[in-house]
Amino acid sequence: MSKRVIHWFRRDFRITDNTALAAAVAAAGGDGEVIPVYVMSDWKGIHDWTGAARQEFLCGSLASLGKNLEAIGGRLIVRRGDAVVELERLAAETGAEAFFANRDPDPYGRATEARLATLCQTKGVALSLHKDICIHERDEVLTGQGTVFRVFTPYSKVWFGLPKPAPSPAIKRMKTPEGIPSLPLPQLVDWGLISGPSIPEAGERAARERLKRFLEAAVGLYGDQRDIPSLAGTAQMSQDLRFGLISPRQIYTAAKKREAELAPEGRKSVMKFLTEIVWREFYMQLLWHYPELLEQEFNTTWRGMEWPGLKGHPDAFDRWCGGQTGFPIVDAGMRQLAATGWMHNRVRMIVAMFLTKDLHLDWRLGEAFFMRSLIDGEIASNNGGWQWSAGTGADAAPYFRIQNPWSQTKRYDPEGSYIRTWVRELRGVSKASLLDPPADGRPIAPGYPIPILDHASERDRTLDMFAHHKASLGR
Ligand SMILES: Cc1cc2nc3c(=O)[nH]c(=O)nc-3n(C[C@H](O)[C@H](O)[C@H](O)COP(=O)(O)OP(=O)(O)OC[C@H]3O[C@@H](n4cnc5c(N)ncnc54)[C@H](O)[C@@H]3O)c2cc1C
Repeated sequence: MSKRVIHWFRRDFRITDNTALAAAVAAAGGDGEVIPVYVMSDWKGIHDWTGAARQEFLCGSLASLGKNLEAIGGRLIVRRGDAVVELERLAAETGAEAFFANRDPDPYGRATEARLATLCQTKGVALSLHKDICIHERDEVLTGQGTVFRVFTPYSKVWFGLPKPAPSPAIKRMKTPEGIPSLPLPQLVDWGLISGPSIPEAGERAARERLKRFLEAAVGLYGDQRDIPSLAGTAQMSQDLRFGLISPRQIYTAAKKREAELAPEGRKSVMKFLTEIVWREFYMQLLWHYPELLEQEFNTTWRGMEWPGLKGHPDAFDRWCGGQTGFPIVDAGMRQLAATGWMHNRVRMIVAMFLTKDLHLDWRLGEAFFMRSLIDGEIASNNGGWQWSAGTGADAAPYFRIQNPWSQTKRYDPEGSYIRTWVRELRGVSKASLLDPPADGRPIAPGYPIPILDHASERDRTLDMFAHHKASLGR
């Protein structure tokens, strides 16, 4: 029997291997109708949780999705406002019998799902929610005692041991009823934003091409190159996963296929790459089990600890945001972020540790700034990365592991290539000047600041801060 159903697009903007969309098409039946809808939020202007890079990529992703749906006979309906109110209105207008959607593990997504479930119960409309954005979610990866893993390595062992679902093929045909009112596709200006960073091409095809290029050219060297920020040694697909232009199942399956073609060293690199995909799922399941992570330290010992900031520098946060700290590797990272909405993972760790352990600023400030600036801003991974760097998170390493930005530069950007790419003032500076603080205390280039602090002293201060807080607990 054919039906009329709604598929609610949230962060799954693709027609290939889209679990809920495939279920919606199947439930509608041969002559049935699917109403694919995206409900855009109606905030305007400054927002803690998103900014121009991510919204612009979202706009491009929706434009591409709209074309893909048209190519198979469908039509993307766009509405604006509160998702549950708009979905209720759409169901009432169209007489749809069911909603389909993919689950979102973050607290906001879950709260919206709960409200939609209540509405569906009241109205007698069916609701079908699906696992899609992870390969394994929620309670699928547990300890032998059935408890949640709080540490990554044993989690990943169990993750790898579980059977993996194969991706499903692209949907070939879909029918959307005529005459349903829709807003035009969203544009940045709808949120009061203007175009900023230069971002990659959006859309399902562009994401698949990025994966293909990475698997052909770089995955075999990933183990050696992933930490070198001047190289294109990583997949640069976090924005694609964030918006569901590609699924983790597609990535896993394609990487496994490539693994079989490679020599042993290359195969190890593929495993290393897949382990990063597992980090993403690890943080998502942590946030699912511990939603309080968004407000509080994962390690309860550090809850309530004060972050006093850098003495004598009320402008420290602004200087960090603007890439003006006088630490070339930190400034290069922050400027890459401003220019592209993306930052290399190694440098994310360096700048995050610098904010928390050198500037003594609360990790939540950095988390919010990243969330606003990143094209791939992902609540779970961002929170996990920040808490890991601050020494408050799900990490076996203790708080006193504090990276030295100068040693990190010597190790990961010894020629200064990454720094020179992003810090224009330093293009003509010798590599030796980039690897250590200036011995004479003078600027290394006109217009470039001297280092805002002495790393060794601030490291000691951080150790005192943590030790003092810990001691205060026993009092
Ligand atoms: C402070 C901090 C904040 C971060 N914020 C985000 C964020 O908002 N969104 C985000 O997607 N990643 C975040 N990361 C993780 C990581 O930096 C990015 O996922 C990675 O740089 C994306 O580049 P890539 O696609 O080339 O990664 P690759 O190295 O090619 O990895 C492939 C994929 O695995 C996942 N991944 C890789 N590393 C991690 C990691 N450490 N944690 C979780 N997932 C990972 C990503 O989905 C990535 O696309 C953060 C890390 C830190 C230290």
